[in-house]
Amino acid sequence: MTATIISGKELSERLRGELADDIKELSVQPSLAVILIGDDPASHSYVRGKEKACAAVGIHSIVKRHPASLPEEELLAEIEALNEDSSVHGILVQLPLPDHISENAVLEKIVIGKDVDGFHPVNVGRLLTGKKAFTPCTPLGIMKMLEISGVDPKGKRAVVVGRSQLVGRPVGQLLLNKDATVTYCHSKTEDLASVTREADILIAAAGRAGMIGAEHVKDDAVVIDVGVNRMETGKLTGDVQFEPVREKAGWLTPVPGGVGPMTITMLLHNTVEAARGTMFDVQS
Ligand code: NDP
Repeated sequence: MTATIISGKELSERLRGELADDIKELSVQPSLAVILIGDDPASHSYVRGKEKACAAVGIHSIVKRHPASLPEEELLAEIEALNEDSSVHGILVQLPLPDHISENAVLEKIVIGKDVDGFHPVNVGRLLTGKKAFTPCTPLGIMKMLEISGVDPKGKRAVVVGRSQLVGRPVGQLLLNKDATVTYCHSKTEDLASVTREADILIAAAGRAGMIGAEHVKDDAVVIDVGVNRMETGKLTGDVQFEPVREKAGWLTPVPGGVGPMTITMLLHNTVEAARGTMFDVQS
């Protein structure tokens, strides 16, 4: 039996349609400010994708583009001004930043109610303690894919390959919050396949093209491929060997068209939440 493919592209189209309807009902038009520093082509392309997605659902987006030489204090002052601007609901600083700018200082500057990327330490801490929080978009998108596919993590063995702040750690935390038994793997893990083969839910987020083969996967497992790796041909490929794993897994996400579109959809979702302004009005 071959795996059922979880199409993030199709799911995103549906969710973005629902968001567009929700936005029409809001008393304010949600607004997202994106700060982009430097000329990294991938960052520019991600930001263009975000602008386009915002426009399609009715979110107003403002992109502040700066040269790589922008002094840190000017960036912090810009964030401060956006924090105080009540017409701006979400603030996102596109990473990575140039070396002379402290990522921590920048992320901590964004007020938590506008932190639609969920990288502020308070949001990270709230997530860790199971409280309501802005949640990083890629992990949130993964959880949405599981939910809509009818995969309940409760009691399941989940293995996360990767422990970054951006993807691995928060997705493991979200799975734990949903009562999965979670194991993290990383570059120092010995005999990776023996660990990943235990997984009912396997999240591949290492950024190593094709590192997960059929021998890493348990029969009928749910395999979520987060990796985005650009091959010499320019083609994008995931961390999972799609064809062999498809023959063994129960569910599988493709690359491209899997987690990627869901990440942007969750950014739109978080921006709408920020515009509603209800994330932190209760101590739950
Ligand atoms: P990082 O490079 O920050 O983290 C990679 C993690 O994988 C690290 O924890 C590292 O371990 C671990 N790792 C690396 N090599 C191995 C290995 N051989 N065996 C086991 N673990 C390994 O990457 P990110 O978390 O930011 O991103 C991961 C992937 O997801 C990338 O391909 C990225 O492009 C993609 N991505 C996709 C998104 C989407 O929307 N689809 C969004 C964000 C990321 P250690 O900690 O020991 O170094």
